[in-house]
Amino acid sequence: MANLHDAIFEIDLEAVASNYRLLCDLCTERTEVAAVLKSDAYGLGLVAVATRLEACGCRTFFVADIEEALLVRRALRHVTVIVLRDEIVNYPDIYRHEGLTPVVNSLQDMQSVKDHNLTMPIAVNVDTGFCRFGLSFEEVRNLFLCDVFRAYRPMLVFSHLGCQDEPAHPNNPLQLNRFCAISALIDPHTRSLCASAGVWLPQRYHYEMIRCGSALCGLNNARLTPSPLNSVVRLKARLVEIRYVEKGEAVGYAATFRTVRRTRLGILGIGYANGLPWSSASNLGARIGEFVANAVGRISMEYTTVDLTDVPEQIFHVGAWVELLNDDFTPDDLALVSEFNAQELLVRLGSGCLRRYQDNHFPALANSARHPIDQATQSGRGR
Ligand SMILES: *Cc1c(COP(=O)(O)O)cnc(C)c1O
Repeated sequence: MANLHDAIFEIDLEAVASNYRLLCDLCTERTEVAAVLKSDAYGLGLVAVATRLEACGCRTFFVADIEEALLVRRALRHVTVIVLRDEIVNYPDIYRHEGLTPVVNSLQDMQSVKDHNLTMPIAVNVDTGFCRFGLSFEEVRNLFLCDVFRAYRPMLVFSHLGCQDEPAHPNNPLQLNRFCAISALIDPHTRSLCASAGVWLPQRYHYEMIRCGSALCGLNNARLTPSPLNSVVRLKARLVEIRYVEKGEAVGYAATFRTVRRTRLGILGIGYANGLPWSSASNLGARIGEFVANAVGRISMEYTTVDLTDVPEQIFHVGAWVELLNDDFTPDDLALVSEFNAQELLVRLGSGCLRRYQDNHFPALANSARHPIDQATQSGRGR
């Protein structure tokens, strides 16, 4: 394992809250902004992010599975927690006792809801052209004809757009039309079609709820210039070694960089094991005060080498921290130059570095252990 303590992923929860308020302002009153916090809130820390969002009015949280749902439920008793996908048949009692909202992704799920007589509100995922999970139009129609939605009333029907970050893509109106037809058969209280980038689609796409993940994290998937979102994360690495090499020396694996002068090199305690993309090497810079020291050679598993020759000696020392991501060079920028997906970048850095929260509500919260299922099963038995 890479040395976590030499690489810090810093998260600004105030910026997450500002992004939430900004998304609310972009929607009309009838549209609720729900938070999607799967994969440990995109690497930012599920409980920390959920708690901050609840404090600024967020009432609905989508999570990946039962484990994540229980973590949110432990922290927040009075919010709606929707489990994007987990076998309902395995955990009927947990859904019931913890007041979690199951998502029906298939006919099998619907059958489990009936078998266990889960009479709490449910959510139904419908497939309108993403082809991952969700009921098809025919399946929904058959359930409708059998009056299933009268006995088990869905509180929410949602579908997922594949191309919402491209407003002119023909799949958007196609999925919108299909969603319109399917959701009419279910007639729920709340309909939801958009994720983050869909906020910038025409209002007829918004319905009663949008489901936002990346925009809360500051990612500008809609590629608006300038980005209206606040950047949320910073990445810092410790300078663990300084060394001088002569002109003409090869630096690192495959000798991809050769010094053209006597060079002062800095070795940073962060590498691809911490989530830094190997492919970003030639585009990465370490900010030290007003200076930028460019990465040279290949990124290795635990270390990255930078050229410190032009950075004044008085402003750094072994043990100092340098910045690799900040407001000027964001995860979106790094994703672009390293041909990465920005969400993937956050998830990797969030689990590969030591996480720290800027507002100090969650000082140095370690990447959380996840054993809530066992606890829930045990407390369920005890009752
Ligand atoms: C991940 C996800 C979202 C959130 O997507 P973002 O683009 O990150 O906002 C919304 N809905 C579903 C079903 C998802 O899986």
